[in-house]
Amino acid sequence: MPRFPVGFRWGVATAAYQIEGAVAQDGRRDSIWDTFCRQPSVIKNGDTGEVACDHYHRWAQDIDLMAELGIDAYRFSIAWPRIQPAGTGGPNGPGLDFYDRLTDGLLARGITPMPTLYHWDLPQPLEDAGGWLSRDTAARFADYAALAAERLADRIPLWITLNEPFIVTAFGYALGIHAPGQALMLDALPTAHYQLLAHGLATQALRAAGARQVAIANNCSPVWPASDSPADQAAAAAYDTLHNRMFNDPLLLGRYPDLAAFGVDEAGLDCVRDGDLAVISTPIDALGINYYNPTRVSALPDSPLPFQLEPIPGYPVTAFGWPVVPAGLTELLTQLAGRYGDALPPVYITENGCSVTDEPAEPADETTADRTFDDQPRIRFLDGHIRALADAITAGVDVRGYLTWSLLDNFEWSEGYDQRFGLVHVDYASQARTPRASFSWYRDLIAAQRMSQRLARDGDQEG
Ligand code: BGC
Repeated sequence: MPRFPVGFRWGVATAAYQIEGAVAQDGRRDSIWDTFCRQPSVIKNGDTGEVACDHYHRWAQDIDLMAELGIDAYRFSIAWPRIQPAGTGGPNGPGLDFYDRLTDGLLARGITPMPTLYHWDLPQPLEDAGGWLSRDTAARFADYAALAAERLADRIPLWITLNEPFIVTAFGYALGIHAPGQALMLDALPTAHYQLLAHGLATQALRAAGARQVAIANNCSPVWPASDSPADQAAAAAYDTLHNRMFNDPLLLGRYPDLAAFGVDEAGLDCVRDGDLAVISTPIDALGINYYNPTRVSALPDSPLPFQLEPIPGYPVTAFGWPVVPAGLTELLTQLAGRYGDALPPVYITENGCSVTDEPAEPADETTADRTFDDQPRIRFLDGHIRALADAITAGVDVRGYLTWSLLDNFEWSEGYDQRFGLVHVDYASQARTPRASFSWYRDLIAAQRMSQRLARDGDQEG
């Protein structure tokens, strides 16, 4: 494995609704995911995040695992409905206390806390008032960000505002397969703008409350046309606009890309007001990139969405069926650097990982105590992607850290508990945590990187 730059941060990422459970404790109230999960047939097996990994009660054990792993940074998310259960008003003390304890626990173990303020759990009362289709939600988000920062900013070096606004727009409001379950297709576009506005207003509010560094985590994907035909190339460009540029251009360049392929004329989106883009492009200190796989698209004439997604043959696939394409990460990062040049801030890989089916398949009547979890496909996935990341750094992209998804198996949204993304296996019946082979592999990688940096530094000093 190549040596990563001095100061490079290794970590893991999780999100509140996917691991915490305790959804009605200490004043927390419903988020859109609580209500969405109560609808029949929207989540596999009728699963919910009600208990999840019970991390709300087992957090100390979980950060002990992180200490054993030797990570530098932990990306978790703060649940808005714990801090401000109605989405407005003063803070809920016991909710803030939880993240206060977590932050101190991490720091005591030498791990840098890297919170995300919004990983999809909008307080239900805000959804009832229009959710991300309402401009007011952006202002509400900034107020909430300030409440969190007033309590924690003295100990948090880097804040992440939103997780993957593209997925919220596409899955939550355009297709309806995530909460809040609205299937508005292109009428969902204002949710992109209001989330970006929320990010910009929150960035300003965070700084005013003493936050040092601010970032956002975008889900990005290199887009491949299914053929060389002009129609497929145009379809790929349109998809790239929606998935990647719609969220990165306003942040980094202060303007939206051309949205003509989606019927938006030169005047732009109706919801954009004077001054919004200046707020959205408030400088950030880092850009978080979540990378899972490339996307291959072909043309779909006479349709409001002028493309369709195609399979990517010729690569191994994860348990989810996602193609494993490590070189896609190098391609994505070098493309971002080329596209945005000096406007691209330092990058963190804020998520990258895969779901793996344990062999032998989950036996219902066996405890995990005597089982080992030899997840070689995950080791191959991580090894390939970390090498691909090294290639991007060699090519000149300024990448400061890598945080794998995820520490624990967790509630994988509409897939329920079927997809297992953890370095650590979770037996949901007993809540037993069992590190998999990938856990030891990642621990050894981090230790080896640290050692080779120490040797290089000592060498430099002697020379
Ligand atoms: C999300 C995570 C999710 C992961 C795997 C990302 O899009 O941020 O919450 O679990 O992908 O699907």
